Amino acid sequence: MARITGIKCIRTRVTATWVIVKVLTDQPGLYGIGSAHDYNATGAVVAAIEDWMAPRLIGRDPAMIEDIWQSTFTSGYWRSGPTHNAALAGIDIALWDIKGKEAGMPVYQLLGGPVRSAVPCYAHAVGNTLPELEDDIRRYMEDGWQYIRCQVGAYGGGGFVPATRPHTPDPSRTPWGEAWPSWPAGQAFDDDVYIENTVAMFAHLRERIGFGPKFTHDVHEHLRPTSAVSLAKRLEPFRLFFLEDVLPPEQIGWYRQIRQQCATPQAIGELFTNVQEWLPLISERLIDFIRCRVSKIGGITPAQKLAHLAEAFGVQTAWQEGGNTDPVNLTAAMHLDMTSYSFGIQEENWFRPEELEAFPGHPVLQGGFLYPNDRPGLGIDIDEVKALALVDPVRARTPRYLVEDRRADGSVIRP
Ligand code: MG
Repeated sequence: MARITGIKCIRTRVTATWVIVKVLTDQPGLYGIGSAHDYNATGAVVAAIEDWMAPRLIGRDPAMIEDIWQSTFTSGYWRSGPTHNAALAGIDIALWDIKGKEAGMPVYQLLGGPVRSAVPCYAHAVGNTLPELEDDIRRYMEDGWQYIRCQVGAYGGGGFVPATRPHTPDPSRTPWGEAWPSWPAGQAFDDDVYIENTVAMFAHLRERIGFGPKFTHDVHEHLRPTSAVSLAKRLEPFRLFFLEDVLPPEQIGWYRQIRQQCATPQAIGELFTNVQEWLPLISERLIDFIRCRVSKIGGITPAQKLAHLAEAFGVQTAWQEGGNTDPVNLTAAMHLDMTSYSFGIQEENWFRPEELEAFPGHPVLQGGFLYPNDRPGLGIDIDEVKALALVDPVRARTPRYLVEDRRADGSVIRP
């Protein structure tokens, strides 16, 4: 029987925001790696693992994944937060890697065996104008992609008015002598502008490209609840594959209103960290895709349970990726995708060549499909020398914050 002898964190990428957890054992050459990435509170996750979770797990049998997950989950009494979940996920994913290596099987074999030969992914197409967006979509289509997320600009793109009069208050009458202190980017978000431009975007794309590719769109939660209902209804004729995060997690009750009024498929979940957030949406069949990030709900162990729950209610998975997660998190999601009957689609991720060189055995993304290998465990490893060489110490010390979009009166919008 193997014993855990140590758990260490390797921070990598230029910003040092990828936290790769390495669980070491007393068996020669036997270790596992996991993802505990957190783009913003990176140091807090590392401290939770190294100072708090690791000492309790030294000497335990790494084969006891479920017991380690359950007992670590409640070992601090409070649970389900994003920092705690990420730390727990890093260890959990590494334990699955170890179990696969001990069994001589890929993790997807341990989870039940493959039900598909590769994992379909959706691309992120973007442009600052509709012609630019159309060009980007066609570029993906030429490379074989069939599922494409369509966005104009960055967060809230298509929904901004100038942050000037008459939209904003009279600067001379505010307590600060300006419309709002530190107004970001000179633009203000407007629900109605966003709805009109997003409907016009899909009208343009379906007119120009047709109904062949499957399109999605991410609202990033910017809308008021009734605006969300309105947008979902007005996008129905364009037959989206899904509409993502049309509401923030605090307003999930409004999905009942959306469901009653239209058939636009709904996707949400990348901010969820607690089973009580997804349970009502799935059990009442109010959404179509659950989009949690594997490492933000605690790893492969809870993610497989979520996938099974979704299967029973006809909801599909679309594990979150996007720009700031790491190759190990994507690999963990891919193993679930390979074996899950409730799989719907996988979000793509893109890594620099030098980043991939630090992760030998990484999955291969080509033509809209993610391909696993057949190595035991996760099939991915970390080259620690190359991983550490990616880090820029200055950028690693620079705090990171999400974009701060605001309405014309200055009030901040849920991102
Ligand atoms: Mg999103």
